[in-house]
Amino acid sequence: MKKLKKIDYEIRHCRKCPLYKTRIKAVPGEGLENAKIMFIGQAPGKKENETGKPFVGRAGKFLDWLLKKSSIKRNKCYITSIVKCFPPRNRIPKKQEAETCVKNYLKKQIKIINPKIIVLLGSIAKKYTPRESLENRKVIFTYHPSAGMRFPKIKKKMIKDFKKLQELNKKINI
Ligand code: URA
Repeated sequence: MKKLKKIDYEIRHCRKCPLYKTRIKAVPGEGLENAKIMFIGQAPGKKENETGKPFVGRAGKFLDWLLKKSSIKRNKCYITSIVKCFPPRNRIPKKQEAETCVKNYLKKQIKIINPKIIVLLGSIAKKYTPRESLENRKVIFTYHPSAGMRFPKIKKKMIKDFKKLQELNKKINI
């Protein structure tokens, strides 16, 4: 756990972009250092900002539901986001914020965890996760859970994508 803990510490004390000024708690991510599956979201929301934990708000509850449906244990995965601090009013992270955070933290987290499967939750995760970090891994690009919980059509598509994830997970476990 040592290497991830060091990055967690750096993130919690980070002042590399202006988001540190408005955060309550940074949200480095949570899970196993040797997780086979890594989930990447967009940015912490209000509840995450208050607790310092990823995906604990409404979108998180929906993600938990999808995981349960796919027989995937949340605590065996690693869950994080492109930026680790709450963007004011829940706005989309700016390019400079996202790129700074990815370069300093996400890239290193992916390298340490070395997951077999990366699940990109939404277009911001897809836009900013470095292509080279996805090489030689299975990649599932799906919607962000906050869209899935609002729109029934997206929910259906997410259920399908998580079925695919369930199959992949079975394969890598044999
Ligand atoms: N949405 C995200 O993208 N990340 C979180 O941690 C919570 C909500």
